[in-house]
Amino acid sequence: MKKINIAIDGPSAAGKSTISKKLANELNYIHLDTGAMYRCAAFKAIKNNIALDDEEALCEMLDETNIRLTVDGLVYLDDEDVSLLIREDEISKAASDVSKINGVRTKLVSLQQDMAKDKGIIMDGRDIGTVVLKDAELKIYLTASCEARALRRYNQNKENGILSNDYETILQDIKDRDYQDMHREHSPLRKADDAIEIDSSDLSIEEVVQKALELVKPLVEE
Ligand code: C5P
Repeated sequence: MKKINIAIDGPSAAGKSTISKKLANELNYIHLDTGAMYRCAAFKAIKNNIALDDEEALCEMLDETNIRLTVDGLVYLDDEDVSLLIREDEISKAASDVSKINGVRTKLVSLQQDMAKDKGIIMDGRDIGTVVLKDAELKIYLTASCEARALRRYNQNKENGILSNDYETILQDIKDRDYQDMHREHSPLRKADDAIEIDSSDLSIEEVVQKALELVKPLVEE
């Protein structure tokens, strides 16, 4: 079977990482959650008292930063396991802030492109189909209503023992972050012209995975 690259973009909490992970398991591909990289940048900046709009300091910090994502979904920042710490709501907002900075994007995008050189990667984020992997053989734009996404994030937080925010606060955060991600100057979130949209509001995870697998099938047949 031929190996391809798959780009999955969409707004926050649309299920991109969950779907990408399952798809990667089915296809024996590598999954790269690019949002985790922006979250690591934000987490380290806060820890080091670096302002989230200080481009020079952020870029210097990233030059001295090692981010490692394991196949079982763990995230290591300079060898510390930050998998859960970076999922806090405060970090979600801060990740969106640092992701507006062009120098930060340039550094992270270059790392991401490097990882996709050998094909067989599923990358999820905001600019994968439009910037990072413009030539990906399959591009999916995964979306869902704000309410469905807020409920999923609320339940996910509960499962992870993160109880800092109630549903209404999460819903407002999601709306704010959508606005910020879609209206920023550099690489705003938008559906690539050649992306296929899947609305997951009323679909189960398995149904979305099946839909995606059907899209993959004809592309990998020799
Ligand atoms: O996907 P996740 O919610 O973990 O991403 C956190 C933030 O990182 C997003 O709100 C977005 O601002 C930023 N991001 C980005 N480009 C990507 C992935 C994430 O700008 N490829």
